Amino acid sequence: MKDRLLEIEDLKIEYMTKKGAVKAVDGVSFNLSNNETMGLIGESGCGKSTMVFSFMRFVMPPGRIVGGRIIFDGRNILEIDEEALRNLRGKEMTIVLQGAQNALNPVLKIGSQIMEVILVHENIDKENARERAEEQLELVGIGKKRMNSYPHELSGGMKQRVMIAIATACNPKLIIMDEPVTGLDVIVQRQLLTLIKNLRETMNVAIIFITHDLSVVTETCDKVAVMYAGKIVEEADMITLYQHPLHPYSQALIHSYPSIRGRKISLQSIPGAPPNLIEPPSGCRYHPRCDHSMDICKAEEPDLKTHGMHRVACHLVS
Ligand code: SF4
Repeated sequence: MKDRLLEIEDLKIEYMTKKGAVKAVDGVSFNLSNNETMGLIGESGCGKSTMVFSFMRFVMPPGRIVGGRIIFDGRNILEIDEEALRNLRGKEMTIVLQGAQNALNPVLKIGSQIMEVILVHENIDKENARERAEEQLELVGIGKKRMNSYPHELSGGMKQRVMIAIATACNPKLIIMDEPVTGLDVIVQRQLLTLIKNLRETMNVAIIFITHDLSVVTETCDKVAVMYAGKIVEEADMITLYQHPLHPYSQALIHSYPSIRGRKISLQSIPGAPPNLIEPPSGCRYHPRCDHSMDICKAEEPDLKTHGMHRVACHLVS
């Protein structure tokens, strides 16, 4: 069995507004092992990004973590001091964001941006940091001859490769990838996903993908968690969840996505909109949109329970 790297226990995050507390993440628990890849899917606003940014305590006011534990490599991230947190960010745990042009510094050469991360976290001199940065550019398929390029001289796909070079520069244990290939053309997406899979195999790193694109999940992930309205409603290994989703929301998500393989079925949209998280619906938060809703669904919130190969929160299943 692989060692456990990340344990999330009953995590709760709220945003204070004039109208009340938005319960963006409400009692989420899951585990991630070393070298495991997990996809986190769900509609915009379901709490995916808020949750994973909290793993590095990147929750800015009016947001705040109001409960739970985040155990990373044996340490509770919510209890470590600022210096330990600085050492962790960018070294042990890193992020690749969507839209690399917004994350790279436009007036710094890309080589300098990779070196900066290495110099902050590793006890080495500038010359060695330069060598490491060159190796990183080779690793992500750009080549060291681009050390002196500025971000605006690179294509979107190359900039995203630079972000991956920065994220992997200090051999992290966990990389969070927030929509890493969104907005890129399909050929570049394919190249980047292949690069990420290769890096994972060679670097022994765990990855969490946040995405609304199921093809990214099926291509890259060992397991998947489906989030709805601040909660995980289903979790299973990728093939099990994709082929036999149990929760009506997971089924609706999968049926709303086109597939070139298997049975030809009409695509379905999910009626309605995600709920207001200041006053979420009673019972199961999905009940106003669920075709299978029963009386109990409005009255009692379903627990996330193990059911065969799944963890699922639905009265229909239990
Ligand atoms: Fe639908 Fe009820 Fe299951 Fe919620 S608990 S997903 S409303 S069947």
